[in-house]
Amino acid sequence: MKSRNVDALILKSINFKDSDKIYTLLTKELGKISGKAKGIRKIGSKRLSSLDTLNYVRIGIVGDGDIKTITEAKLIHSFSNIKKDFDKLNSAYYFIEILNKIVQESDEDSEIFNLISKCLKRLDEVKYSDTRVENYFEFKLLEHLGYTLQLERCIDCSEVLNTERSYFFDYEGGGLVCSNCKETTFRLKPDTLNSILYLKGFYQGNDLEFSDLDQIFKYYINDLIGGVSKAKKYLDVRNS
Ligand SMILES: [Zn+2]
Repeated sequence: MKSRNVDALILKSINFKDSDKIYTLLTKELGKISGKAKGIRKIGSKRLSSLDTLNYVRIGIVGDGDIKTITEAKLIHSFSNIKKDFDKLNSAYYFIEILNKIVQESDEDSEIFNLISKCLKRLDEVKYSDTRVENYFEFKLLEHLGYTLQLERCIDCSEVLNTERSYFFDYEGGGLVCSNCKETTFRLKPDTLNSILYLKGFYQGNDLEFSDLDQIFKYYINDLIGGVSKAKKYLDVRNS
């Protein structure tokens, strides 16, 4: 049978039979799939040794069934900085938890794959703060899934965001409203406006005010996954 090569992120694995493992993989080309590695747990087996959770690999697969067979694997990125840092690891698990909830098996979506790969690289690079990478992930994911929050202009008068003006956030309308148009219960801190501009371009705005955006994104992410993320609860404790 012909082997096919795909880019994959390893989300998790379980032991199977005496020496096999079954992996849950998010692939760029085929969406989320299951793949079996035969004999990988035999003592001394170095074959397919790059199949650790969270690794970015290029793999060869065969089979059309629910569980495909992994024939070869080449490591592209091991995200070693994430793996040695408990907080970064939790951020990565947060991304994976959300993905597991929203991406169905064989749901092809290369943009989601690219988004999570990019966010893992940013987490691994150390120069970005973990919370900013999380906000970027949430913001881009919501946008991609059709939760287009209007953060560029007032949803009532359409005036473009002006950092001199004060703004509120309207959850029902899904966007900013300027103080000329309407006042809601959620008045944004003045610095939040700069954070929005930073996030849109993804600059390094580590000293900016993000708590308002955190709250807004959390509201919509919870709506998306139909509950509260377990990993996010931990991250909230870290932030407080
Ligand atoms: Zn307005």
